[in-house]
Amino acid sequence: MCAAADDTIAALASAPGPAGVAVVRVSGPAVPEIAQRLIGRLPEPRRAVLARFRDAGGSTIDQGVVLYFAAPASFTGEHVLELQGHGGPVLVDELLSRLLELGARLAGPGEFSERAFLNDKLSLDQAEAIADAIAAGSRVSARAAIRSLEGAFAREVEALVEALTRLRVYTEAAIDFPDEDDVDFLGDGEIERRLSAITRELAALRAQAAQGAVFRDGLRLVILGRPNVGKSSLLNRLARRETAIVTDIAGTTRDVLQQQLSIDGLPLVLVDTAGLRETEDPIEAEGVRRARAEIATADRILLVIDDRTGLSAADRTLLDEIDAEIEVTLIANKIDLSGRDPGMANVDGRPTVRVAAIDGRGFDALGAHLKSLVGIEDNAEPAFVARRRHLVALDRAAEALADGHERLVVDGAGDLLAEELRLAQNALGEITGRVSSDDLLGEIFSSFCIGK
Ligand code: GDP
Repeated sequence: MCAAADDTIAALASAPGPAGVAVVRVSGPAVPEIAQRLIGRLPEPRRAVLARFRDAGGSTIDQGVVLYFAAPASFTGEHVLELQGHGGPVLVDELLSRLLELGARLAGPGEFSERAFLNDKLSLDQAEAIADAIAAGSRVSARAAIRSLEGAFAREVEALVEALTRLRVYTEAAIDFPDEDDVDFLGDGEIERRLSAITRELAALRAQAAQGAVFRDGLRLVILGRPNVGKSSLLNRLARRETAIVTDIAGTTRDVLQQQLSIDGLPLVLVDTAGLRETEDPIEAEGVRRARAEIATADRILLVIDDRTGLSAADRTLLDEIDAEIEVTLIANKIDLSGRDPGMANVDGRPTVRVAAIDGRGFDALGAHLKSLVGIEDNAEPAFVARRRHLVALDRAAEALADGHERLVVDGAGDLLAEELRLAQNALGEITGRVSSDDLLGEIFSSFCIGK
């Protein structure tokens, strides 16, 4: 795919700080020579050996287990040395200094994974899955990331790319031999049939990827409601049911409070805002501005109402203010006071969950409702993780297919269809990294941790 890197990188691959073992990873062409000078020999590939790590004067910096992987059979596809020494920060510093002295340089974030990608060891979405697996906040998200790493997403994308390639070949042939044996290839329905099949498969993959993205990024829910309807109580109740860690996201202000938690493995980002009240007070006005910004990026609004009053005039005003494109679920709270049963209902044509934040009634129904919003039934899990950039690429591919279909059926223009198919293929290629720009790679890998 590209020329092999000519320099050798080194970094601490395990977490910094005192630990039982620290793993320092070295990758690149200078590995055999570095091994010779650091431990006096190049171990047999894939054989753990105990060795002394020596400084320039020959005295021992540390001792530990050394593993050598010969190119191309390694994570990066290059010669790799893994040095498993004692996990003391000073020892690690000394070892890294020695490696730099021997010609390695410190690796940047994600540089090992980037090399693995550039050497065709991983597709781009698989490399991203490594970062996602490390950062996963729930068991379900972590397992989905591992499935991506195993190629679950890449395989689906590749299958679509292959189907597109075959259709392109067929279309090009139809253009080159328009009326062979009096057969009208462009108009015989075969191209349209295949195009529709690919479009359907793409839509199914898009739906799966959307689930995968939710399990990576969390479903963003903005909680709105008049004062005293029970917004804080709802948040607290959700947080208390929570088995995973609840975190207050850094950077939140007194106006916008965000909490991350998960319901049955579905990660949620709950955003509690100061509300939308118009105000003269400049600080509050800033709060209102932020609340609007939060609402604009929400996956869904939870509008908390008091079940005793139902949807009040003030609630309707709030609803009028919300962008019609963002869907709303009503949370009718305080059923202990209204005397109604917990669970799903329909108020004013909107999906409504009746709950009591005070004792937790109705929260199972709320959890099931949120999962059904992302198309996850019961305890099903997403097939893989996906990122927003993947969804954008899938959307671009779908657009190109739709345009191509129009060129075919409206204009009967095979060459224009072929061009749209090519664009669709390129968009899909960006997911796996078959088609990529340096900018994109830089952006993706710079968000990785060092040593990965
Ligand atoms: P917020 O202003 O919307 O955040 O409302 P709070 O969560 O602070 O709740 C306002 C009041 O309603 C508090 O006294 C809560 O204890 C009470 N409250 C909240 N949820 C319930 C509920 O389900 N039942 C009852 N009886 N009281 C509730």
